[in-house]
Amino acid sequence: MGTKKLSGESSYTKRYDGRKFDELRPIIAKVGIVPSADGSAMYQSGKTRAIAVVRGPRLLHPKHLENPRKGIMRVTYQMMAFSVWDRIKPGKSRRGQEIGKVSEWAFNEVVDLDAFPNSVVDLIIQIPQADAGTRVAGINAAAMALAQAGIPMSEMISAVASGKMDRTLVVDVDKEEEDYEDGEGATDVPLAITSRSKKITLLQLDGKISVPELRDIISMSKKACEKINAIQMKALKEPGKEIKG
Ligand code: UDP
Repeated sequence: MGTKKLSGESSYTKRYDGRKFDELRPIIAKVGIVPSADGSAMYQSGKTRAIAVVRGPRLLHPKHLENPRKGIMRVTYQMMAFSVWDRIKPGKSRRGQEIGKVSEWAFNEVVDLDAFPNSVVDLIIQIPQADAGTRVAGINAAAMALAQAGIPMSEMISAVASGKMDRTLVVDVDKEEEDYEDGEGATDVPLAITSRSKKITLLQLDGKISVPELRDIISMSKKACEKINAIQMKALKEPGKEIKG
């Protein structure tokens, strides 16, 4: 897919890092990075790296949160203090809580905890290095970690943040692109998509975009997610090995 322009010229004619408009950043994926965990994985896209660890299902404390009908999933997301140039303040943040919640919702569609009443699955996502797209990298790592832990899932999930620089649509936005200011500026659209039924389980939008442009972003992201899914599946077949794409 080439440059998408609805009308008029876009000021963003070449990507800063030389990628094609529909090209993902270089990917590294690895399953089984924390041997003591029930499931763990790393997903790296360019300079953004996410790690995910799964513990459980195990009995839930505090007890008043228990659900006697099915298990629950608890997702936490955190950027490490050294993940960006300015030190990230440790502890809870509104952004971290929002990303934990939307990541949990992204998995609700596929994770089935009916067989684990009164139990919890803890999914911990940490970002050692951030260059935009950390929530989608976290979801990609989490999907592998949940699969390795044997948590029942009807399908896999892959995620990417595509966007619009002025009027140009691009896949897998990095931080330099996210800060683009010319023309219509930058719009960022993180999406998570299920592997078989192609359901969208996360869609957020930061910026301004027309409906046809959003449709194009979704179809570019679906193709990108198929590539990501192939890498996730390969990493799951070869735990301990870095799979590159
Ligand atoms: N970022 C930062 N400090 C912060 C939060 C974010 O430097 O406290 C950077 C980081 O590179 C992150 C990017 O801004 O990846 C974009 O953040 P956003 O909230 O849009 O989420 P993300 O794209 O990482 O899912």
